[in-house]
Amino acid sequence: MSALLDVRNVETFYGPIMAIAGVSLAVNAGQIVTVLGANGAGKSTLLKTISGAIDCRKGQVLFEDKEIQNRDPDVVAARGIGHVPEGRDVFPFMTVEENLLIGAYGRGDRDAVKRDFETVYQYFPDLKTKKHDRAGFLSGGQQQMLAIGRAFMGRPRLMLLDEPSLGLAPLLTQTIFQIIRRINGEQGVAVLLVEQNAHAALEVAEHGFIMEVGRIVMDAPSPELMASDDVKEFYLGQS
Ligand code: ATP
Repeated sequence: MSALLDVRNVETFYGPIMAIAGVSLAVNAGQIVTVLGANGAGKSTLLKTISGAIDCRKGQVLFEDKEIQNRDPDVVAARGIGHVPEGRDVFPFMTVEENLLIGAYGRGDRDAVKRDFETVYQYFPDLKTKKHDRAGFLSGGQQQMLAIGRAFMGRPRLMLLDEPSLGLAPLLTQTIFQIIRRINGEQGVAVLLVEQNAHAALEVAEHGFIMEVGRIVMDAPSPELMASDDVKEFYLGQS
């Protein structure tokens, strides 16, 4: 069986700077996979390359066996990939409900869209209470929930999540990770999760990739990574 997402030898540059130096990775349907690495390792650039926000110079990105590298982001989204960028990126002057509706843009199945609103409100009850509030007035955690909910409204088969726990208190981080697990388990959405919080990410993901300066330096099932002395020392804060 071929992978849902298959990234092959991708190179991405910012002008003369090579940010991704030949990365290959795969995500199977329904799987959660994490990419860990220090600041500047190239994790966000990798997600942006997959979603079409940045073009790659070399390599291929295959989604459901079709090439999607260097396509426009709206084309990639319509194919079934939802990107939740770092920093939440909600529309602050629009209400929660309007933000979610934008996520469903292009979908013709009105009844299913209605049901998906309810699913998002069930996962994130705070969003239901605040559905008529402007997104800019939400807390950081609620904006993160909204960004995930908005991507879900596009009914993706793969979600790219960029540091969903960034700046959140530990309890809220736990909540966000529980919801990621539920969206994956109950809705069958595969997840490619970029995280600084290696512990939480390896607990939720089946498989992990470690990136350093634009390259994958290690890749293994999560339990193996958690047991590795190098990973413990450099990413899990233990030696
Ligand atoms: P972070 O967690 O800090 O976002 P990251 O692993 O996601 O780190 P990237 O943001 O992908 O890393 O950055 C990879 C490299 O590309 C870094 O050296 C960074 O300085 C560089 N870079 C990122 N964005 C740009 C840009 N717009 N222009 C030039 N260089 C960039």
